[in-house]
Amino acid sequence: MNTIEDFISGLPKAELHLHIEGTFEPELMFRIAERNQVQLKYSSVSELKAAYDFNNLQEFLDIYYSGANVLIEEQDFYDLTWAYLLKIHSQNVLHTEIFFDPQTHTSRGIPFGTVISGIQRALVDGQEKLGISYRLIMSFLRHLSEDSAFQTLAEAMPYQSWISAVGLDSSEKGHPPTQFERVFAKAKENGFLTVAHAGEEGPPEYVWEALDLLHVSRIDHGNRSLEDPLLVNKLANLKMPLTVCPLSNLKLKVVHDMAQHPLKEMLGKGIMATVNSDDPAYFGGYINENYLAVANALNLSKEQLAQLARNSFAASFLNEKEQLKMIEKVDRFYELNRD
Ligand SMILES: [Zn+2]
Repeated sequence: MNTIEDFISGLPKAELHLHIEGTFEPELMFRIAERNQVQLKYSSVSELKAAYDFNNLQEFLDIYYSGANVLIEEQDFYDLTWAYLLKIHSQNVLHTEIFFDPQTHTSRGIPFGTVISGIQRALVDGQEKLGISYRLIMSFLRHLSEDSAFQTLAEAMPYQSWISAVGLDSSEKGHPPTQFERVFAKAKENGFLTVAHAGEEGPPEYVWEALDLLHVSRIDHGNRSLEDPLLVNKLANLKMPLTVCPLSNLKLKVVHDMAQHPLKEMLGKGIMATVNSDDPAYFGGYINENYLAVANALNLSKEQLAQLARNSFAASFLNEKEQLKMIEKVDRFYELNRD
């Protein structure tokens, strides 16, 4: 009765791997740049879009950080977050857990409080006006030092009630989780949950380290876990969620063909995989486009798509009762639309 595309659009979903700075659409970037009288390296929206032709994570990060430079005022962070919330509201995302990278901004002299206040104000409005529940995750940039991460954690403490977890992102290769073991221990001591990007470009050992040394509640990406059968067993036994980002993987050449994407294999091996958009403005799609890309390329069934949506709530930081309520919504939708 309905197409896979309709099914995905209507499916109630949570997003668990999303960098708010990565939702910066070129049009909004130009508008804020003009408002703040910041000169962009690109003369037009189309020239900027043409630059989004990356070969790897580092090439993407270079453009990503230059875009983030135009964000200066609290209102800029509000506008960025609000635009994302409006977008996911149109895609039936009921819950989102977003990353922000304070060091990208504090290193340019933007106060921590300016960044987080703008994001938080939009999230509160999103809950009130759009009914989207949320959690906020503060990510440390792993290409910067442990000292810088410790300083960022200290700056976060006055805002602790707004932040659920700490994460680890940016250039993975050469920056193993072990470098951040102490700062993650301190964050845990202070009551934060932990997550970490691992096994995107880095080896399975980084996933082991994230589990054993950073004591994460989720692995972000985790694709390369499949190279290690022991690790696969461990992830499945722990019901450790992986926040997988298919279009990001394709765009950054972590996979070369969506038909080769490991998502279906992960599900087949009993891993709690979820689908997410990572940096949607840069990678060519928000959450529905990610679901659709894997549904088509891997020939996923409606049951498998519903399982991914159930996983997204089960892997979230919502409490058990809230999770069950959301999963019931997925089940109800599936029963009505399975044929
Ligand atoms: Zn990411």
